[in-house]
Amino acid sequence: MEKRQELYRGKAKTVYATDDPHRLVMHYRDDVSAFDGVKLAQLAQKGETNNKINAYVMGKLVAAGVPTHLVSVLNERESLVRKMRMLPVECVVRNICAGSMAKRYGIEEGTRLSEPIFEFFLKSDALHDPLVNEDHIRVLGWGSAAEIGEMKALTHKVNAVLKPLFAAAGIDLVDYKLEFGHPTDDPNGPLMLGDEFTPDGCRLWDAKTGEKMDKDRFRRDLGSVIEHYREVARRIGAPL
Ligand code: ADP
Ligand code: UDP
Repeated sequence: MEKRQELYRGKAKTVYATDDPHRLVMHYRDDVSAFDGVKLAQLAQKGETNNKINAYVMGKLVAAGVPTHLVSVLNERESLVRKMRMLPVECVVRNICAGSMAKRYGIEEGTRLSEPIFEFFLKSDALHDPLVNEDHIRVLGWGSAAEIGEMKALTHKVNAVLKPLFAAAGIDLVDYKLEFGHPTDDPNGPLMLGDEFTPDGCRLWDAKTGEKMDKDRFRRDLGSVIEHYREVARRIGAPL
């Protein structure tokens, strides 16, 4: 496999083409952003830490029957993935109320939910990722009814794997964001999990103390961001 030209520079990762038209290199940078890219910084070791946490978590999901785009880890900061046509929606699952849901409905952060709540957001920094419903997705053409069903089914399957995985590490999986797509070499086939699962895109609280171990440490200026990401990796058994 040969790495070729840069295709896209996102807020935290850079995507490169390869000599295989159906494979991409995902390069995890040290950049961190919040509030739709308004707050920016660099955190040493973030790229390599997230590349390793993502590979470990995706490996667990594959083992549990959730298809993902990850092909292999190439080096400290890079992974090879299947190139996908991503659906422009973010799937959020919440086990505990926090963040935008707490604000939107005036519910105290930390309120435990009797069952997981699923939300869709349109992936658009310019529009600040607005909350959308299934009709918006279907009627406005961001996804079909079948794709909506698949995203929900896969997301609930992910929750059934990851909630106990983090619980066994003494961590509450509060909420997280997933993105799905169709591999370009199987455009009509089933959806696969893409992008990443790292502390950048989820909330993780120490089950005993409630201490935050995710990107809220950056958003809320709590300090020691990467130290906490690495503690997450250590506790779940992801090799660093
Ligand atoms: P953002 O675009 O939100 O700033 P990143 O810096 O993480 O985010 O950039 C990675 C981009 O690559 C995201 O836009 C994501 O939707 C996209 N992506 C993730 N997985 C794949 C894939 N397998 N194929 C194509 N694009 C992908
Ligand atoms: N999230 C994300 N990217 C986004 C929006 C949300 O990774 O563009 C994650 C976020 O880290 C959290 C979950 O999805 O784990 C729910 O986020 P929320 O809607 O509460 O928004 P926030 O308060 O993070 O802006």
